[in-house]
Amino acid sequence: MFHVKHFDVVVVGGGHAGCEAACASARAGARTALVTLKTDAIGTMSCNPAVGGVGKGQLVREIDALDGAIGRIADKAGIQFRLLNRSKGPAVQGPRAQMDRMLYRRAMQAEIAATPKLDVLEGEVSDILVERGIACGVEISDGTKIRSRSVVLTTGTFLRGVIRIGEEARSGGRAGENACINLAKRIEGLGLPLGRLKTGTPPRLDGRTVNWDILEDQPGDRVPEMFSFLSEGPTAPQTSCAITHTNEATHAIIRANLHRSAIYGGHFESVGPRYCPSVEDKVVRFRSKNSHQVFLEPEGLDDDTVYPNGISTSLPEEVQRELVRTIRGFETARIIQPGYAIEYDYVDPRSLRSSLELTELPGLFLAGQINGTTGYEEAAGQGIVAGINAARLAADLESVTFPRSDSYIGVMIDDLVTQGVSEPYRMFTSRAEFRLSLRADNADQRLTPFGISLGIVSDERKRFFEAKIEKLAQARKALSERSMSPQEASAAGIKIGKDGVRRSGLDLLTFQGIDVDRLALVWPELGELDPIAAKQIKCEAIYANYMERQQKDADALKTDEKNRIPDGFDYDSIAGLSKELRLKLNSARPETIRQAKRIEGITPAALVQILASIKRGERRPAA
Ligand code: FAD
Repeated sequence: MFHVKHFDVVVVGGGHAGCEAACASARAGARTALVTLKTDAIGTMSCNPAVGGVGKGQLVREIDALDGAIGRIADKAGIQFRLLNRSKGPAVQGPRAQMDRMLYRRAMQAEIAATPKLDVLEGEVSDILVERGIACGVEISDGTKIRSRSVVLTTGTFLRGVIRIGEEARSGGRAGENACINLAKRIEGLGLPLGRLKTGTPPRLDGRTVNWDILEDQPGDRVPEMFSFLSEGPTAPQTSCAITHTNEATHAIIRANLHRSAIYGGHFESVGPRYCPSVEDKVVRFRSKNSHQVFLEPEGLDDDTVYPNGISTSLPEEVQRELVRTIRGFETARIIQPGYAIEYDYVDPRSLRSSLELTELPGLFLAGQINGTTGYEEAAGQGIVAGINAARLAADLESVTFPRSDSYIGVMIDDLVTQGVSEPYRMFTSRAEFRLSLRADNADQRLTPFGISLGIVSDERKRFFEAKIEKLAQARKALSERSMSPQEASAAGIKIGKDGVRRSGLDLLTFQGIDVDRLALVWPELGELDPIAAKQIKCEAIYANYMERQQKDADALKTDEKNRIPDGFDYDSIAGLSKELRLKLNSARPETIRQAKRIEGITPAALVQILASIKRGERRPAA
């Protein structure tokens, strides 16, 4: 006799999208079940043991602002924190941290266990229950049925996953875990548009066999930048990474064996992530480079496994052994697990609404790699949106969407559902037309009030956020109430143009090199302002003068959508366009800006450049 269980929401998959979806759904008040293949694998990082980066770090902060889990968990498991692009403006800086894999998994499992209204069930979901055209639950392979008002599918790379190492191929969802065939067939049977994508991972090395002494050390930041607005500092001991390089000998082995690579041997028809290329890709695409960086990332404090970031490969195992040993520091390195490539089914995300519910199958939401994205952060960002909306559907509430102007989460979902993907989608700051305002430092101000209105933010975060807003208001008031003339500024050693204009503290912050600490030398009472508020106000000031321009560019893109792109328009002469975009534009030859906008991978920044060039009339072809 088979069991029937009842929940408001069922989330399938305990990866990065699934954990976030299940927690968000439960926080929104829905009785939620998280069904996953192995409960002790919940929160597993399938690939590199790191969270964040440029664009990705912003996503993590946004999820945290909505009280999601990934930021807090990454702070607990972080063993080396670095703010990327520290020397550039705050809009393109990205917090990133190395994770202890086991700490991450344990912390995520503890978070799930401590979430009220959330139950975890182990099993393989083999069927989606559909009645009168609406998804209403799932069936586990042992016959148990779980009935619900809505379902969130977050099955990652498991749908018809095929793992390839050299000429060998076997079915698998990721190393050591089986692929899901039945569910893939069911999804196909439901008429959802499926495609194939691929990704890869490097061999893992035994750290005890690496010669660390001769490698360049890469320590974390002296003052770590945390992901969560609630975290005060790392809790795990901190460690360093190291850097080495491939060389001509490595490249020669790769070239000689390209025909044996799963990726280059003609075994795959699908497309892989261009921005996270395999070492084979790098050697072929960047022929003139005789060396590529390899970052040695420890997988944990009590774990000797090392993740050599930069040599993802699907060459045969014996070739991997040979090529690894040509690299400085790896002369005697032992491979614990060979690198591999994996090909899997994804669902064309254009079949989704912005709520991440399928247009043709109400009640069924999709999030994560199943939608053609790559990365934990992208998965988690979709997970939280799908979880919120699945819970709202179960409570007969209207779905919510995230506008592009307010968040990277909104940019990502809009890109996915309008453009689809032709390669695994990864977040970059260039994808956002409002990137100057979508910063990691202000994600809470952009999203926490929305999270509070949805009822998914804890009282602790709400209090913390309100206190921060109060401190910001105090700091702004203090800075706007004080002013000085250029002469007074000069007397205090602050260099600004001698234009006779008296400027407030806020205005002075818009100048490079002037921060609140500097102003406190003149107005000592400013030294008492909250340091986080002071830093935040400096970030705002840096971009204050550019906001109007950003809005103008975004408006122009909307109003000029119908603008014609002249025949024979010379994309190659626009210096700021990447090689890939030029190739795509040259092959698609869009007739209007609107058509160009629909080309997958085209960024708002690229469109602004094309538009400006057309308006200047510089690049019209000769008559
Ligand atoms: P996953 O984290 O894969 O989680 C899927 C979950 O669904 C698992 O818990 C699984 O057990 C469960 N599940 C699947 N089917 C069923 C079923 N039928 N019933 C019940 N449970 C089920 N990202 C990068 O950013 N950079 C990289 O270089 C990179 N390389 C990668 C290399 C490999 C080999 C792999 C596998 C992934 C790589 N990723 C990389 C991607 C990153 O790991 C994923 O994007 C991210 O984990 C996706 O999260 P997800 O929640 O969608 O899926």
